[in-house]
Amino acid sequence: MAKEGKRFRSQLYEYDYSTGTIRLKNKVCPRCGSVMAFHRWPKPRWHCGKCNYTIFVSEAKKA
Ligand SMILES: [Zn+2]
Repeated sequence: MAKEGKRFRSQLYEYDYSTGTIRLKNKVCPRCGSVMAFHRWPKPRWHCGKCNYTIFVSEAKKA
């Protein structure tokens, strides 16, 4: 992977500092099939901008 000079908004992927891995965050909406966006605030969740489908993520572990 190419190094990014600037800070990249964590919309596309998430850098896990504990394991040093990058995980793709893009998820496809189970309802309409478009890409969902991940939001951390106020609650971690996946949200589809097209059909408003929302999946709440339970953070079981915090580093
Ligand atoms: Zn959708």
